[in-house]
Parts: sequence; structure tokens; C-alpha cells
Amino acid sequence: MKRISRASCEQLDCDDPLVGFRRNFKLGENLIYLDGNSLGPLPAAAAARALQVVEEEWGVDLIRSWNKNNWFQLPHIMGDKIARLIGAEPGEVVMTDSTGINLHKVLHAALGLRPDRRIILMEDGNFPTNNYVGQGVAALRSGGYQVQFADPEDLLDALSEDVAVLCLTHVHYRTGRIHDMDKITAAAQALGIIVVWDLCHSAGALPVNLNDCQVDFAVGCTYKYLNGGPGSPAYLFAARRHHGHALQPLAGWWGHDNPFALERDYRAAPGIKQMLTGTQPVLSLAVAETGIDMFLATDMNAVRRKSIALCDLFVRLVEQHCAGQGLQLISPRDSNMRGSQVSFDHDNGYAIMQALIDAEVIGDFRAPATLRFGFAPLYTRYVDVWDAVMRLQDILQSECWREARFQIRETVT
Ligand SMILES: *Cc1c(COP(=O)(O)O)cnc(C)c1O
Repeated sequence: MKRISRASCEQLDCDDPLVGFRRNFKLGENLIYLDGNSLGPLPAAAAARALQVVEEEWGVDLIRSWNKNNWFQLPHIMGDKIARLIGAEPGEVVMTDSTGINLHKVLHAALGLRPDRRIILMEDGNFPTNNYVGQGVAALRSGGYQVQFADPEDLLDALSEDVAVLCLTHVHYRTGRIHDMDKITAAAQALGIIVVWDLCHSAGALPVNLNDCQVDFAVGCTYKYLNGGPGSPAYLFAARRHHGHALQPLAGWWGHDNPFALERDYRAAPGIKQMLTGTQPVLSLAVAETGIDMFLATDMNAVRRKSIALCDLFVRLVEQHCAGQGLQLISPRDSNMRGSQVSFDHDNGYAIMQALIDAEVIGDFRAPATLRFGFAPLYTRYVDVWDAVMRLQDILQSECWREARFQIRETVT
């Protein structure tokens, strides 16, 4: 195999059809940001948009903005944009609340469609908040609801006609492993199971086709790959065939059929609007549009091709330059099975990540031992991959990660 050099990485950047997008982000020249899978960086245009919303829409137009600047429609305007990134139709997605809250709403709605069944099936090892939400939903309902966990390798065997809802994360937060959405959805639905997918590590990272897979419900966040900004609202997809039947339980005036009629009693809106509860964080919704628009201006297949090339390059370089240093690849080696991230375990992973961050290579650490690196194709260059591995090699060889300052545990890792 030809040995890769920094010069060959520079050549790959020259030939990269997405190279122009990097200009649209605010990123320091020496900073290598491999954490866009946790908090996407600031799109350069987002600051101007934020100023406009604050100074003009809030500052001048004031309450007239609900109509004049479409504030009231923002969850739908943004939802329709996100729909294009996840293979949904207009009117099937709203941008609202957080992923956890949307999952809560969707699980209740899904359980309501299968009143004779009591089991929510989830996978072992998933990002814990999804488990907590599932357990919270089961605890709130009377009648013996419970969450069961299956080994991700044995999911299909765990499906049965006792399961009401199967709730999975499409791309695993720790390893990046991709589930076969089409196959699993079909197998579950053949047994009458309602299927919910979490797209937190999928949207903006790879093409997603919810309707091609006939998915029932989905949720996901926008502050990771979609660069919506810290705490930007999440989204919720409900297939049109469920509208009016599957009702989320957090009833509120934004989900009412006619909110401004100010009727005494709740009347569920017939469409996706029912998935809303109350007044939304307008500033965050508006600012998130900048990042999402960037994805609408590109081709997700091109994003996916570059993502695979970056991840493959990273694995190859780490194995060439950091061999024998105790790193163990925990992501699938086959790029078809892997999202837009690569993770290695190391016994001293925490301190090594702190030393890397100190060297301006920002990834993240997931307890107990995982070094996680996200590769967002719109701003990550091939030379960044090269430079990141060289800095990692230095840290491992010099063992500078042993310094006391790299052992200090911060609240957020
Ligand atoms: C990031 C992520 C979340 C985030 O949930 P919040 O409600 O936004 O805190 C949930 N689930 C998965 C799988 C995630 O990766």
C-alpha cells in the first residue's frame, strides 16, 4: 500500500469538491476540530442572523414578528427543511423541544397505537438518555409497561408480537456503528411493532431515507452535525399515516387545532402540529437555520463520500503511526457500517484526550476509555487528519499525557 504523506493529503484537499464550504465556518487556522458530532462549530453567517433576529425582529418589530417574521411558523419552516435531509415529506417534521422530550412524546404516541402490548424494546449500550426516557415513559403508564434491552447483535431475534415499540439509534454514539434501518424496520413492522429511530448521529452525517424505509417515527438533534448552535431545538418526524391517530400526551395550545380560538378544551391538531406543546425558543430556531441551509446547498452523497474517505484515512494513519501504543479501534473497520466518526479505546484515554485538546486537536472522551473523533466533511480537511494523527503520535511517544494537568477531571467530558 502506498505510504501517505502530508503532501498527498494536500492534494486530496485540492481535488475535494466540498473544499469551499470551510470558508462558511468560524474556525481557528491551527485548530483541528473533530468534535462536530457533539457540538458543531459556528457557521459564519449565524452571528449576523442572530444579530438580525435580536435587533430587528425582537428589537424593532416586537410582537408583530410572530406574523411578519414567521416566528409562529418557524417549527414548521425548519421542520420542512430538515425533512429534506432525512427523506421525509413537507408536513411530517417539526423542529421543537429537545431530543429527549421529543422521544418522550413519540414513545407515548407509539404505545397508544398498540394498546394491547406492553414492551418498549431498546438496545444495550445506547446513549443513556434514551433509556432514561423509555423507563420514564413506562413508569408513567399504568398497566405494567416495561423497557427491555437487547444486544445490538441479536435485535432481530428479540422482536416478537409482545413488543409494542422498537426504539433504536441509527448511528451509535460511541462506536459509530450503523444499523440497517430498512431491514430492521421491515422485520419489526412484520410483527406489528412500531419503529422509532434516533437520528442524532445521522442527519448531516450521511443520507437518511425515512420514508423509503417506511419508518413510523424519528427524533434527532440539530446541534451536532447540523451546526444549529448550543442547545438548538431538536426535531420530530411522524409519518403522515399516523397523523391524527398517534397523539403525543403533552397537550398544549401550540398543538391545538385552532390555538387562537382560545377554546376551553383541547382539540388535537390533525397534522404534525399536534407534536408541538408550547412557545418555542425563537432565537435558537432562527439561528439554527444557517447551518441547516448549508446542508441543503450540498449533496448528502458527496458529504458521505468525503466522510468515508476522511474516516478511512484516519484509521489508516493511526494504525501506521501509532502502532503498539495501546489504541484499540472500536468502530467498524468497514466504512459501510460506520457513521462519520472513528473511536479508539485506550486505558489512559481521558488524559490522552486532554493532551490532544491542549495540542489543539479537539475530540472527546466517553467513559470509561473511548477517544472519539468526529469527521464533518464540510470543514474538515485531509491535512487536518494528517496533522491530528501526527500530534497524537507525539503525545503517545512522549507520554506527555502523564502530566498532572491532564489528569484533572472536568464536569463535562
Ligand atoms: C446527542 C444525543 C441525544 C441528546 O439528547 P438531548 O435531549 O438533546 O440532551 C440523545 N440521544 C442520542 C443517541 C444522542 O446522541
